[in-house]
Amino acid sequence: MERSVDVDIVIVGGGICGLATALALHRKRIKSLVLERSKELRATGAAIIVQANGWYALHHLGVASVLRQTAIQIKGVNGEVRCLKRSDLMKAMANSLPEGTVRTCCEVLSVELNPLTHYPRLMLTNGTVLQARVVIGCDGVNSCIANMVGSNPTKLMLFSTCVARGFTNYPTGHQFASEFVVISRGQVQLGTMPVTHNLLYWFITRLRTSQDSTISKDAHLIRESLMESMKGFPEQSMEMIRNSELESLHLTELKYRPPWDLIFNKFRKGTVTLAGDSMHATGPFIAQGGSASIEDAVLLARWLAHMKVGSRESKNNFMVEEALIDQYVKERRKRIMWLSFNSFLIGKKLDTQSFIVRSIIIAILVVLFRDPNWHTQYDCGTLQYDI
Ligand SMILES: Cc1cc2nc3c(=O)[nH]c(=O)nc-3n(C[C@H](O)[C@H](O)[C@H](O)COP(=O)(O)OP(=O)(O)OC[C@H]3O[C@@H](n4cnc5c(N)ncnc54)[C@H](O)[C@@H]3O)c2cc1C
Repeated sequence: MERSVDVDIVIVGGGICGLATALALHRKRIKSLVLERSKELRATGAAIIVQANGWYALHHLGVASVLRQTAIQIKGVNGEVRCLKRSDLMKAMANSLPEGTVRTCCEVLSVELNPLTHYPRLMLTNGTVLQARVVIGCDGVNSCIANMVGSNPTKLMLFSTCVARGFTNYPTGHQFASEFVVISRGQVQLGTMPVTHNLLYWFITRLRTSQDSTISKDAHLIRESLMESMKGFPEQSMEMIRNSELESLHLTELKYRPPWDLIFNKFRKGTVTLAGDSMHATGPFIAQGGSASIEDAVLLARWLAHMKVGSRESKNNFMVEEALIDQYVKERRKRIMWLSFNSFLIGKKLDTQSFIVRSIIIAILVVLFRDPNWHTQYDCGTLQYDI
């Protein structure tokens, strides 16, 4: 049976971005409701590399100090870099939210604008209808909210590489330095970064194959296929894959929204907007998707803090909310466009077999991104900051 409920801010998706957005709003004393379709909060993909800009954002959310205790600092890099277990990041954010903020087993089927009030109405697969003032689509790469806003996820593209990720645990401690190391053999790349003195995060980039959709469903097959593609790598690396934690293994194809979409796309319809991968899915080549999602959260909360309290019937309130979301989109567009373009070029450089195309890409990278760390030197600003 259909039930109708009124909520001010609904966040669709309880991934990194959804939780960060709810937490940023909470820090501004704004209540929100996160709807997550899974039975529990999922932390797919083992670990996430967080660079200086991500740490600024986590600091503004008030969870940086607790997370620093879970991961060692990486040396020989620009600014603070740590590799966090995704589950630690999600737990730190979820634990800082008021009880009842996150509802699991709640899949949003569609969103439409109420023709009378112009405010969004969400239809859930369990038959519930929610009336909201603002809806934020944090529902990842295959976002249904992006569809509604007109920022079509079917336009997403695929790199010809895919990435496998996982953890290897060394109960008596590993011998890897606190560094980010990448080894390449042909078109296979292995990256390693320690999380702690016992836990090592690694990822392997290789060309996609037609069997990948089958392989990705079975952790044993992922490990087998990795051992196969890593022939010629040092024995220590092979050993690392052989001893990897099965439940941490994931093989992912790399979907991205082309950078030019980010220049022209609409990211608001009425008072519905997007954040995180639903807005700006990029390849992982500069390890910024997650941190950029946390930056989105901080900025969005800062703007939405100016929402007027009061009636949903007021046309004036509706226009203020639209204008606040437009300010958020305007402020984010330039940053995410450059992040996406940088990642796109690196991804395409790995994709191409052509010497000429690769040389052109390298030339563009040198001209536009002379400082390879430019993207880490950004502070999204405190949540206290008043606009
Ligand atoms: C291989 C790889 C490596 C990466 N490495 C890094 C890295 O090192 N550093 C970094 O910063 N970033 C990295 N990223 C990017 C980062 O993982 C993403 O940018 C980040 O996870 C995006 O978070 P999100 O919350 O927007 O989306 P997601 O994590 O996809 O979360 C979306 C959530 O929405 C839920 N959902 C979807 N549809 C619905 C619906 N209809 N109703 C309700 N719930 C719904 C899903 O169940 C999910 O929980 C990497 C990405 C990949 C693919």
